[in-house]
Amino acid sequence: MFDVIVVGGGPAGISSAIYLKRFKLDVLVLMKDFGALDKTDHIENYYGFPNPVSGRQIVENGLSQASRLGIEIRNEEVLNIDKTELFVIKTNRNEYEAKTVLLATGSSRVNLRIPGFSDFVGKGISYCAICDGFLYRKQTIAILGEGEFMAEELEVLRNFSSDLYVFTNGLPLSVKVEGTKIITDPITGFIGDEVVNTIVTDKASYPVNAVFVAIGTPSATDFALRMGAFVDNNMIAVNDKYMTNIPGLFAAGDCIGGLSQIAKAVADGAEAALAINKYIHSKTS
Ligand SMILES: Cc1cc2nc3c(=O)[nH]c(=O)nc-3n(C[C@H](O)[C@H](O)[C@H](O)COP(=O)(O)OP(=O)(O)OC[C@H]3O[C@@H](n4cnc5c(N)ncnc54)[C@H](O)[C@@H]3O)c2cc1C
Repeated sequence: MFDVIVVGGGPAGISSAIYLKRFKLDVLVLMKDFGALDKTDHIENYYGFPNPVSGRQIVENGLSQASRLGIEIRNEEVLNIDKTELFVIKTNRNEYEAKTVLLATGSSRVNLRIPGFSDFVGKGISYCAICDGFLYRKQTIAILGEGEFMAEELEVLRNFSSDLYVFTNGLPLSVKVEGTKIITDPITGFIGDEVVNTIVTDKASYPVNAVFVAIGTPSATDFALRMGAFVDNNMIAVNDKYMTNIPGLFAAGDCIGGLSQIAKAVADGAEAALAINKYIHSKTS
């Protein structure tokens, strides 16, 4: 069992892990890739770099610094987080327990640029099977996705309906799925009146009562919604101690909104570490 599991190995996650380790806490960082900084080759506004530097280089520097301090970093994709007495973190390879969790996954909520999609978010299009699946019991439910995140959400939806469709939107299915209709054609539109009622692909139209989005990797917002943490305008709501409304669940960096910059993510990570350290000591003293 870990004191803290940090989900995310970007500026917020690694900055936090460095402070947490120096507080002598048992910390594990889980990350799946290089995050937002992998998308830029040219950073020249971050302190301490006299010449432009690539985003990847900054992340690599952070990871080397963390490893030198003895921080354990594992390349695993977090698929689910449950809160019982402890936090149970399920990844594509393992399951872990922790006293606290820091969400530092950046901002990565999928927003499909397909006609009708944004019109029906919250009107039949949902990002959280465990929150909204019950509303559509015994109805026709579509789930959008192609990988392990989709498979996780699909298992939740099976509790509510057997009339399920998986739409991969043109991507190959990367997990085995049984007992469900699978449509791999690209989606060209979402149609409805007050709520969504049809998914249109380049080959056919499919009547549906609800659409659940589970494309790619779950984001901090997805984890928060499933645990009942408050989300405001797609960002995790935290107090001035970087804690969500769920005791022991913290968040930092781009996923809590504000300035989307490295400097702010690093500062968030440090502040969150201080708060987590205090929180853990308050529980043990
Ligand atoms: C094109 C572009 C250019 C930019 N240019 C600049 C710039 O010049 N200067 C500047 O200051 N900022 C810039 N930014 C913004 C900067 O990249 C972000 O503000 C910063 O990276 C946020 O840090 P973060 O730690 O919150 O998230 P990220 O850096 O996005 O890190 C997120 C981490 O979470 C991990 N993760 C996500 N989901 C999961 C999961 N389910 N399981 C496991 N791990 C997960 C990822 O693997 C990654 O390690 C730019 C961003 C972009 C996209």
